[in-house]
Amino acid sequence: MAETKDFFAWLTAYKELIVENADYLTDLDRRIGDADHGANMARGMTAVAQLDPTSFADAGALLKKAGMTLVSKVGGASGPLYGTFFMRMGAALGSDADTAAIGKALRAGADGVKARGKANLGDKTMLDCLYPALDAFDEAAAGGLQAALQAASERADKAASDTEPMIAKKGRASYLGERSQGTPDPGATSSALLFKAAAAALA
Ligand code: ADP
Ligand code: MG
Ligand code: MG
Repeated sequence: MAETKDFFAWLTAYKELIVENADYLTDLDRRIGDADHGANMARGMTAVAQLDPTSFADAGALLKKAGMTLVSKVGGASGPLYGTFFMRMGAALGSDADTAAIGKALRAGADGVKARGKANLGDKTMLDCLYPALDAFDEAAAGGLQAALQAASERADKAASDTEPMIAKKGRASYLGERSQGTPDPGATSSALLFKAAAAALA
């Protein structure tokens, strides 16, 4: 059963991966956006990592606050979208954070992103990483949380790469039309790091 401190370890590991990869994420966004995705996410997750995990009643409350922090610290598309992901995940997470509950909560987060951003699968956004990774999580969930997160992380990496040939239909990259082909989506790439961090720190 994952506890509040485990979810905080996940958030902290995500912040570290985001900071390590900030230049790469910004480079991707330079090619098909406005060159700020790495900086946006690093600013937001650095603020999240400064939360005090002992000040929350449960993991759901921590995740909701993490989401609100991202909304308030990050301008641009990714702040409200990742913010919604964590707020919805926190709202969905019950007190028994077992493998199935975590899978459901992660999916509630992705559904929140979909509702907020009105993107569909194949539009070359973070959804094209989140949903394939969550499908892999569900397929591996019978093997326990570590197996599910490992499977999700591997699928997430592939899914992020698979956005490279897509034509963006949402967000700034969509302004480029066919010229958005040939670069992986920055948000799908940062979402893959979310699962990498979970496989390393949450289970
Ligand atoms: P901005 O585009 O405002 O500068 P960022 O560069 O931080 O914001 O984030 C860009 C990422 O946000 C994109 O790579 C994409 O994954 C994601 N994104 C943009 N619009 C949407 C949307 N409507 N639905 C889902 N994800 C989106
Ligand atoms: Mg940008
Ligand atoms: Mg921007």
